[in-house]
Amino acid sequence: MEYEAIIGLETHVQLKTQSKMWCGCANRYGEAPNTQVCPGCLGLPGALPVPNEEALRLTVRAGYLLNCEIPRTAKFDRKNYFYPDVSKNYQLTQNDQPSTRRGFVEFEFGGRLTRVRIHHAHLEEDVGKSFHFERHSGVDFNRAGVPLLEIVSEPDITSADMAYEYLTALKEILMQGGVSDCDMEKGMVRCDVNVSVRPRGQQTFGARIEIKNMNSFSGVRRALAYEIPRQITVLQSGGRLVQSTRRWDDAAGITEEMRTKEDAHDYRYFPDPDLMPLAPDDAWLAGVKSQVIELPLARKQRFMQDYGLPATDAEVFKRDPELGNYFEALARQTKHPKAVANWVINNLRAKLAESSDPGEGALAVGPEPDTERAVAPVATSLADLKFPPAALLELIGLVENKTISSSAAQQVFAEMFDTGKSPAVIVREKGLAQVSDTGAIEQYCEAVIAAHPGPANDFKSGKTAALNFLKGQVMKLSKGKANPALVGEILERKLRG
Ligand SMILES: [Zn+2]
Repeated sequence: MEYEAIIGLETHVQLKTQSKMWCGCANRYGEAPNTQVCPGCLGLPGALPVPNEEALRLTVRAGYLLNCEIPRTAKFDRKNYFYPDVSKNYQLTQNDQPSTRRGFVEFEFGGRLTRVRIHHAHLEEDVGKSFHFERHSGVDFNRAGVPLLEIVSEPDITSADMAYEYLTALKEILMQGGVSDCDMEKGMVRCDVNVSVRPRGQQTFGARIEIKNMNSFSGVRRALAYEIPRQITVLQSGGRLVQSTRRWDDAAGITEEMRTKEDAHDYRYFPDPDLMPLAPDDAWLAGVKSQVIELPLARKQRFMQDYGLPATDAEVFKRDPELGNYFEALARQTKHPKAVANWVINNLRAKLAESSDPGEGALAVGPEPDTERAVAPVATSLADLKFPPAALLELIGLVENKTISSSAAQQVFAEMFDTGKSPAVIVREKGLAQVSDTGAIEQYCEAVIAAHPGPANDFKSGKTAALNFLKGQVMKLSKGKANPALVGEILERKLRG
C-alpha cells in the first residue's frame, strides 16, 4: 500500500521591534541575563501591559505579505500554565480572534509554483529562557515579552523537502518585508511540526504527531525525513499510531516520544481584562499597507518578464533585493538589460564579495603591495561603491559601440571599482580603445602578410585555417586593440585580392 504524509507547520518568528510587546524594555539579543527586564515583563503583581504599536503594525504587515485577511477586530487572551520561564503564569496570545487569517505562501518547488495556505498568523509574547547547570538551574527573562508572531499553516505540505522550501520562502518574505531579522542562530525563528501519514486515497487523517521546538530548517527536513518513514513502518507492521508529542534529537538523528494525548494541556484561555480588543481603522491599515514590499517571487517573475532575464539571474535578484534594486534602476535606462545583469552579477557582486571577505581575497591578491587600496578602503557594499551607477551604463555603451573589446572592459571595470574614475578616462589613460581605424588596421595586416608569407600562401591555396594565425599576429601587433572583426575582414580582402 502507498502512504502519503500530511504536514502542517507552526512557525514562531520574533518581530523586529526596538522594545518588547508590553513594556519599554529593549528587544535586544545577547545582553547579560536579566538586564533587559522591568516589573512588567517579570510579571510582578500590579504591572499593567501597554501594547507596542510597532508590533501590531508588523503583525498586520506580515498578514498582507502572506496574502491574509485582516479582521476588523482582534483580541488578546491569557493562556494559563505554570512553567519557570513564564513568571506571570500565563502567556498573552491571540486565541480565537487573531490579527490575520486565511492567507497563503506561494513558492517554487520541484520546478513548479506551489501554494501552502496559511490558517492564520497571531501575535503573542515570547517567554524567558531556562538554563540548566550542574547543580542548579536559572532563568533569563530578557526574552520574556518579546513580540512573537506565530504563523500556522494548513496541512498542505507533503514532504520533508517541501517543508524546507516553504520555510525558506517564508523567511525570505518576512526578512525582506522588514517583519523579522529571522536570525536562526539567535533563536528568532522556531518551528513546531505536525505530521501524520495515511494510505493514499484515504480521506480521514492519521494520528497527528507533533515535533516541538525545532530551531533550524535543515533540522525540520531531517526530522521529517526520519519521522515519515517511521510512521509508515509502524502502520505497515500492523501497529497503531496515537496522537503524541515527540522531540527531535539532532545528534542521534531520531525523534523520541515526550508525551501522549492523555496529558494534553487545558490552558483555560480567557480574554485579558487589562487589554482592549484591537480595532484597526482604515487610515491605520492603509498606512501599514503602504509599507508592504513587492513579494520576492513576484519580483523574480517580473524581472524575467520585463527585462528578459533568465531564471537564474532573476533568482539572484530575488534573494538579494538591494542588488535587484541596483540592477533595476539601470535596466530601466538601457536597451541591454541582460548586459546590465551580467555586469551586476558576474562582476559587481563578485568584486563586492571578494573585498568583503579579506581572508581569502588578501591571499589571492598576492605579495604585490597596492598603495592605492591602502589609502582608500575598498568598497564592500553597494552603498560605498566609488563609481556612480551611470558609469556601468557608460561601460556597457563602450562595449556595445565597439570602442573597447570585452576583455578591455574587464580591465576598465576593475579600475573603475578601485578608483571611481569614469570609464572614458580609464580607456584614455590606459590606451584601451579599440582601433577601428581601417587605415591603421590595413597597415598592420600588410606588415603581417609580409612577415609570414608561408601562412599567407596556405590561405590562398585554400587552407582557410591559416587566417586565424594571421589574425592572431595582427592582434599581437596592435597590442590587442585592433577591432577583431575588422581585422578578419581586411585580412581576407587582402589575401583574396
Ligand atoms: Zn520590561
